[in-house]
Amino acid sequence: MKVTKQKGTRDIYLDDIKIWQFVERNIREIANAYNLNEIRTPVFEATELFSRGVGEETDVVNKEMYTFLDKGGRSITLRPELTAGVVRSYIENGFDSYISPIKFWYMGNMYRYEKMQKGRFREFTQFGVEIFGSDSYLADVESILISYNLYKKLGILDKITLSINSIGCSECRAQYIKKLKDYIRPNLDKMCDTCKIRFDKNPLRMLDCKEERCKSILDNAPMITDNLCKECSDDFENLKEALNKASIPYVVDKRIVRGLDYYNKTVYEYVSNEYGIATGGGGRYDTLVETLGGNHVPAVGFGLGMDRIVMLLKESGFVNSATNDVDIYFILLNKEAHLNYLSLIFDLRNNGVNVDFDISNKSFKAQLKYANKINARFVCIIGEDEIKNNIGILKNMDTGEQINITLDLNNVLNNIK
Ligand SMILES: [Zn+2]
Ligand SMILES: [Zn+2]
Repeated sequence: MKVTKQKGTRDIYLDDIKIWQFVERNIREIANAYNLNEIRTPVFEATELFSRGVGEETDVVNKEMYTFLDKGGRSITLRPELTAGVVRSYIENGFDSYISPIKFWYMGNMYRYEKMQKGRFREFTQFGVEIFGSDSYLADVESILISYNLYKKLGILDKITLSINSIGCSECRAQYIKKLKDYIRPNLDKMCDTCKIRFDKNPLRMLDCKEERCKSILDNAPMITDNLCKECSDDFENLKEALNKASIPYVVDKRIVRGLDYYNKTVYEYVSNEYGIATGGGGRYDTLVETLGGNHVPAVGFGLGMDRIVMLLKESGFVNSATNDVDIYFILLNKEAHLNYLSLIFDLRNNGVNVDFDISNKSFKAQLKYANKINARFVCIIGEDEIKNNIGILKNMDTGEQINITLDLNNVLNNIK
């Protein structure tokens, strides 16, 4: 019986992997341009990290985690997001005594047991940044500049809209939530079941309910941006001013509240214009380091879904035309030819030349056919007569031109330039 891949996972190969490599290369260039430090954390962590860090009442923790007991009886979870892991590492390694602020970036796979929909997988990949040690709106601006710049560099700015919001600090948010609940309470029985549960557990999330009957009630709900305290309001105004100055277009969207508990003040999402789904998002999380046992360290970060970025690129007809075509393919016609020229092939490869040769004892005709199929620029044919004189017949596959060359490293290198 054939074993097939698990639901929500993919194999990525050939043309698709080239798009991924293009995205990854651009991410590394962005990371370098913004002085970001790469961090790699484990794919699995203690379950407690996410229940405490992401929040017990979130969908992610409640419904979507891959959690299991390992053979030692520990409760382990495959990371459903990466912020909690980076914060754990930040605390565990005492980064706050090293330098502050510090900017980390990561790229990695995450796991959520979710319903399948467009561009969503159970194993998915994100590029993210976490900036620790600044409570200034300037750190929020920096995080938006980085994420916005990636979309720009990839040429898909016209496919997304940046939506920003502020969900306030613990003080003004608590007052706002009271106001919001007072507004909703008389209409609660008309709302969907999810909203009814969220009313008690996570009322802010009601604002992003997609059900029409809930939307129509919530359209006139009080807005948090009208209920911010002085500090939160100043920060939000400063952020908007900075984005205007940096010529970064955005809309203020009161429904952006983010699904995770740890956010405060600035939150933002990049939304696909065509599909209305988020392709990435982030925000400020000033209390998470403390929640997870560290010092008080304000922080802001984002995660961008690379699967959705690749999807948008593919749909825009993007093709990564960078090829890894073979420079030279050696057609070797007997055992002696195979063995005598292994060291030449090794040296060529060591000099950065893309070399391939027959490893399955194919006939001359079959080797030539193979060389054509892999788009070799040159072939070098070596048979009995050639070995005697240490020469090869070098054929330019584009022009068909054929010359005899002496088989030493420099001569081959010169002839295939
Ligand atoms: Zn506030
Ligand atoms: Zn609802």
